[in-house]
Amino acid sequence: MARYRDANCKLCRREGEKLFLKGHRCLTDKCAIERRAYAPGQHGQSMRYKTSNYGKQLREKQKVRRIYGVLENQFRNYFASAERKIGVTGETLLQLLECRLDNIVYRLGFAPSRKAARQLVRHRHFVVNGKIVDIPSFQIKPHDIIKVRDKSKHLDLIHASLKEFGQTDQLSWLRLNKAALEGELLEVPKRQDIPLTANEQLIVELYSK
Ligand code: SF4
Repeated sequence: MARYRDANCKLCRREGEKLFLKGHRCLTDKCAIERRAYAPGQHGQSMRYKTSNYGKQLREKQKVRRIYGVLENQFRNYFASAERKIGVTGETLLQLLECRLDNIVYRLGFAPSRKAARQLVRHRHFVVNGKIVDIPSFQIKPHDIIKVRDKSKHLDLIHASLKEFGQTDQLSWLRLNKAALEGELLEVPKRQDIPLTANEQLIVELYSK
């Protein structure tokens, strides 16, 4: 399956803000944005960010796409699905992205980043409602139970991550049982409950041209 393989920090530097793609490192002064807050590449320091409407829409779309680790075609497909559903397209788009299995694993704190969550899922460390699921884009539905597989419960990565990131207190739509290494999606999150600073309306405008 295709995925982005280049340096993650480049993506943050291109967007000019922290996208939190690397877990613990993002919280330290080793973060590339802290050290080199300009776009990557030879002309990065002299690069002027586009201020046209199109430029803003494009950057917003790229930012959200990169945060969730989704490639262009897949992102377009999410948008097409969101358009077909009843509701506000921008909000529905974010809900579809939030309900991806790799994102839920990350939000629950089982992995320090979405990329790490994606790898854990691909390596078959999680079961959903008792069945192994190794598809990062698998859509989680309300009341689905996401659990670490019995034979994966010893993984240091999961325990270290839970210790640092396993706080779902602010996320009313998730339930985490740290002792049992399991979580549940209580409901599809509303826009105001999704901790994401993005203007999804700009993405809708971009794709509606
Ligand atoms: Fe982005 Fe994290 Fe790299 Fe900082 S450390 S630039 S937030 S991926």
